[in-house]
Amino acid sequence: MKYTRRKFITTLGAGSALLMLPSVPGFSKPVFSGDKKLGVALVGLGNYATNQLAPALQETSLCYLNGIVTGTPTKIDKWKQQYNIPDKNIYNYENFDNIADNESIDVVYVVLPNSMHHEFVIRAAKAGKHVFCEKPMGLTSKECEEMIAACNNAAVRLFVGYRLHTEPHHLAAMKFRDEGKTGIMYVQSEFGFKIGDPTQWRLKKALAGGGSMMDLGIYAIQAARYSIGKEPVSVTAQEYKTDYEKFVEVDETVTWQMEFPGGHVSNSYTSYTTPANHLYISTERRWFNLIPAFNYNRIQGSTNRGQLDLPEVNQQAVQMDTFSQCILDNAESDASGEEGLKDLKVIEAVYKSIQSGTKVKV
Ligand code: NAD
Repeated sequence: MKYTRRKFITTLGAGSALLMLPSVPGFSKPVFSGDKKLGVALVGLGNYATNQLAPALQETSLCYLNGIVTGTPTKIDKWKQQYNIPDKNIYNYENFDNIADNESIDVVYVVLPNSMHHEFVIRAAKAGKHVFCEKPMGLTSKECEEMIAACNNAAVRLFVGYRLHTEPHHLAAMKFRDEGKTGIMYVQSEFGFKIGDPTQWRLKKALAGGGSMMDLGIYAIQAARYSIGKEPVSVTAQEYKTDYEKFVEVDETVTWQMEFPGGHVSNSYTSYTTPANHLYISTERRWFNLIPAFNYNRIQGSTNRGQLDLPEVNQQAVQMDTFSQCILDNAESDASGEEGLKDLKVIEAVYKSIQSGTKVKV
């Protein structure tokens, strides 16, 4: 099944295209017709939900903000007023399962600390709701497998918040890969920033699962995987620390190399101390470069043929509309739970390699 052409696709601009993917067997609900938009409930009203997702949901064509789930009652009034959310669509973490009875909510978007994704995705699936889940999908590959199984058992769809899968510069990277006659030989991907507040959950292993690797390194893994278009067969990784107090529980800086079938290699870097934001891809004769590569906006690119001139989009709005389109058309997505699981398998191999000091098979 192909995507029907809708208005949001035009926001991607000429020259970029959404991937046309086949339909998903076994998923029969919900089938909407006409102009119905999917109602989305955000779970966790922190920074990303407040400053990116809720505003983006004002620009989406196929879904809209219709509910909230929060553990902080003092946030409710502001959200109710700002987004006109009815009282019946406001939940807390305890009564969240009652969302099963709410027909006006079609999708639950889990935007909680990483360790809570597993629980809330499974609860959402059991409530019969489609799920958007933030990255990293879970703390382990086992968690991801359980989340996928729960969604399959409930016949609901599961998507991971990989906002760059529908971003024009990253779509251009995939096109560069597909056009490369000799194949991609080398990828360099780096994402890091200096993290602030030393008390935040991102620095606590139980809540975050890991440090810069889990949070930012996952972008570098993703980029290498879709730039090469193959799955890595092995990983060799190294960890570095400059601040043993702040990063007592999680990794601060990691470098790693991935080996792909056919001898292609990637070299990657992630850090919670040193900013880095870059994707470089080369074939035997051509190269493709994005810097900055992973921001919400102002991604800049060039190739051996000159500067890229691509439109800037609201990444979160396009991402959520694309996921909604997949639900409405029963179409496959390349940001599925299976995609999230693949990244967790690589991350596990990275941590194993750091511990063992050896090359680890993925
Ligand atoms: P945040 O700290 O700003 O918000 C977390 C929310 O979870 C808050 O509303 C907080 O009240 C709630 N919460 C519930 N239990 C908590 C607990 N025990 N400890 C801390 N907070 C608790 O975080 P964020 O930046 O919004 O990140 C949320 C998720 O979104 C993470 O998984 C993160 O990786 C992801 N994220 C993705 C992107 C992206 O570009 N795709 C960007 C930022 C964050």
